[in-house]
Amino acid sequence: MVGSSPQTLVMKFGGTSVGTPEAITQTAQIIQRQRALTPRLIVVTSALSGVTDLLLNSAAAAARGDSNTYNQAVQTLRNKHEAALKALIPDRARQEEIRGAITLLILDFANLCQAIGVLGEATPRALDAVASLGERMAVRLLAGVLENMNVSAQYVEATRLIVTDDNFQSANPDIPATQMATRAVLNTLLDQGVVPVVTGFAGATRSGVTTTLGRGGSDYTAALIGATLPADEVWIWTDVDGVMTADPRIVPGATTIEELTYREVSELAYAGAKVLHPKTIRPVIEAGIGLRVLNTFNPDCPGTRLVSELPVADQHIVKSVTAIRGQSLVTLEGRGMLGVPGVAARTFAAIAATGTSITLISQASSEQAICLAVPVNTAEVLVSALQNEFYREIQRKDIDRVWATGEVVIVTVVGEGMRSTPGVAGKVFSALGEKRVNVIAIAQGSSEVSISFVINAEDIRTAVQTLHDLVIKEGAR
Ligand code: ASP
Ligand code: MG
Repeated sequence: MVGSSPQTLVMKFGGTSVGTPEAITQTAQIIQRQRALTPRLIVVTSALSGVTDLLLNSAAAAARGDSNTYNQAVQTLRNKHEAALKALIPDRARQEEIRGAITLLILDFANLCQAIGVLGEATPRALDAVASLGERMAVRLLAGVLENMNVSAQYVEATRLIVTDDNFQSANPDIPATQMATRAVLNTLLDQGVVPVVTGFAGATRSGVTTTLGRGGSDYTAALIGATLPADEVWIWTDVDGVMTADPRIVPGATTIEELTYREVSELAYAGAKVLHPKTIRPVIEAGIGLRVLNTFNPDCPGTRLVSELPVADQHIVKSVTAIRGQSLVTLEGRGMLGVPGVAARTFAAIAATGTSITLISQASSEQAICLAVPVNTAEVLVSALQNEFYREIQRKDIDRVWATGEVVIVTVVGEGMRSTPGVAGKVFSALGEKRVNVIAIAQGSSEVSISFVINAEDIRTAVQTLHDLVIKEGAR
């Protein structure tokens, strides 16, 4: 376990950490051991792995008039939670109580899906009501397991803590209101020596309507609670040994990065490394509290510590390489675009109107093409939206064409040391060139903490492995 023991600590567990009875046991033991060291301990949990997807897919199916999917999901939800209940809570009365509570939530789910079916539409507001149910089941289960281990615990609905606007599916917290609620509710429990077990992901508007913070948002919940309470540290428990130098499924030799700056981890989060929800970092930096990423299934590994600055001597030039799959590159090109103001603005406005988020942008200074990486399933819609927007320019041949590639991958290398080291881009592209990986487009963030580039989907392994060799080499400078 981690050497130091903060006095006030938020520990967040992801879906896989509560995905099976064995995982829940592991998680509960981590909490029990930490409770002996940390007097004020708050737990935040995700839904059991797979549950949020199941809930949302059922709601979407219901909107299309398919009621089979949610009826089957009812059974899956029952079985999943029942397996844990039977295995981990032998006390009959407690088992019965929690089963009853979970059954009610499953009933809510079925009713919501039925209503969605009647309306023929799943509004963002309805989707949040459905999506947040997974965490609500999980907290009841986990608090029960802890009580069963004689750890005094109480589940808490984050709708009582996290106050948000009504931007459903990606709600924004009102920090002062959240701070007031968090302190009022949690301090009362903490003063009594109780471990609050809080639903991740969810919040509520001022008038009490349930919202969610966006997919993967439980990390953000933990950060918000940690920052507002405030806690000394926030620990994110996941299923890998912290932040890795690369995806170990692609690079078997990938290792844990011991220390990473907030800037580096933000770049990684945006670059598809599924380590932390991108919004997690900011509240933690602003509150000046510690953040760590740990592995539930290897709790003795110290994981990765996130820090605001690293001494220059400890800065590896390239620290990690990561990839986002399933992208397409949409290109708008034409000699007539040269010097015409407003093309970029109109391009982005047209794309924004379709609700697509752009992953990468690159424009050459010749101004003859704008390239955008977007999720591959949105490419077709975007191409037509852009063709409509630039209909007249296309007729006049100022714009030659708007087109999309097949599936491509964005690879990003991240490292704070790149800022002060010339020639990194050169090394990156020479290494790729040697392996005959064709680079289609390039972008560098102005923070200079990362370089991203687009390659063909089939080159992903070669590219990531090649650049990982560079991570190891440059790391040892
Ligand atoms: N359960 C939610 C999701 O799958 C939130 C989370 O896991 O952080 O997106
Ligand atoms: Mg998650």
